[in-house]
Parts: sequence; C-alpha cells; structure tokens
Amino acid sequence: MLELLNNTQDSRYEIFLAYATMNNFTKTCIYKSGLQNTFLHAEALKRFNIALEQAAALGLRFKIWDAFRPVEAQQILWNHMPDEKYITHPQTGERPHCRGIALDLTLTDMQGTMLDMGTGFDDFSETAHQNFFKIPTQTQKNRLLLNGIMHAAGFVCNPFEWWHFQLPEFNRYKVLSNKEAPASML
Ligand SMILES: [Zn+2]
Repeated sequence: MLELLNNTQDSRYEIFLAYATMNNFTKTCIYKSGLQNTFLHAEALKRFNIALEQAAALGLRFKIWDAFRPVEAQQILWNHMPDEKYITHPQTGERPHCRGIALDLTLTDMQGTMLDMGTGFDDFSETAHQNFFKIPTQTQKNRLLLNGIMHAAGFVCNPFEWWHFQLPEFNRYKVLSNKEAPASML
C-alpha cells in the first residue's frame, strides 16, 4: 500500500522531485512538471518517520528528490542510462523505487540549506560512492550522519549513491505501475 508524501502535511521534509523538472541527468521532465506529491510504501513511511524524528531532534530536515517511481519512469531512466550500477533494470532489476521502498534524499538545516555531501543528486561519479574518502572531513561526517540516521531507522544504503536508501528484502514488495499508484505521476 502506498502512502502520500507532500509538502503540506509534514514540515520535517521538503519534496523537490528532480524528475518533475528538466534539471536531472536525462534533461527531460519525466513526471508531471512541478509535481510535488510522491508516495512511499506504508512500511517505508513508518521507518522514515523514525528518521524524521531523529533528524528533527538534531535540528535537521530532509530534502527528497525521489521516492516511489512508477515502473514506466524506471524504463525512461533506463533508456537514458542502461547501466545496472546506477539504474536497476525496468523488467528484471531490484527496482526498489518502483516498489515504494526507496528514497533519494539529503539533509538540510531548518532553513532548507543542504548540508555539503560532496556531490549533487544523480552524480554518477566515484565521488558519490559511499567508500570514497577523498572528500573534506566535514563532508564525510555529513554523509555518515545521513547514513546513520537512515540505518538506525531501518534503511540500507547504496554503495554507489550517497543519497539512496531503501528497505532490505525488496522482494517482499510489489513493483507498481503508474496506473497502480494512488494518483498518476506521469
Ligand atoms: Zn534512488
């Protein structure tokens, strides 16, 4: 079951869907332009709420670039970058976003200024890898803080993308199409 996330119901996060703009690696708008609603599986939302609570206790918020992603959108991303290191295959891959159990996100302060993580979202370079340590100490600490908050809440990280977190045991959750979402995203 997918639950709604939007910018009005919870001040502890801000949704800025990169794929609802042209400002993403595909240089095309994949979702409805300017879309601010997204979804998470109820189990992922339950755990994300723990992360939100922990971040808030530290005076921090989240900026969300992507959460649920209809499988049709996965196909479009794959067409632009058919590389399983970064994009899971739309028919056969893990596709955690298409199951509503993954989040692409970063930490911000209460004013919405992003903490320095060393790269932006969807930076497909070695610098974005979890084990890339040739970044300033504070940047590394910021990444470890994001990692620690998300892990403590029950998510696992992606070794190649510091911004990606998902629930373990992806097979327990169903891949969903745009039609199966509570509201159309495309
Ligand atoms: Zn992701």
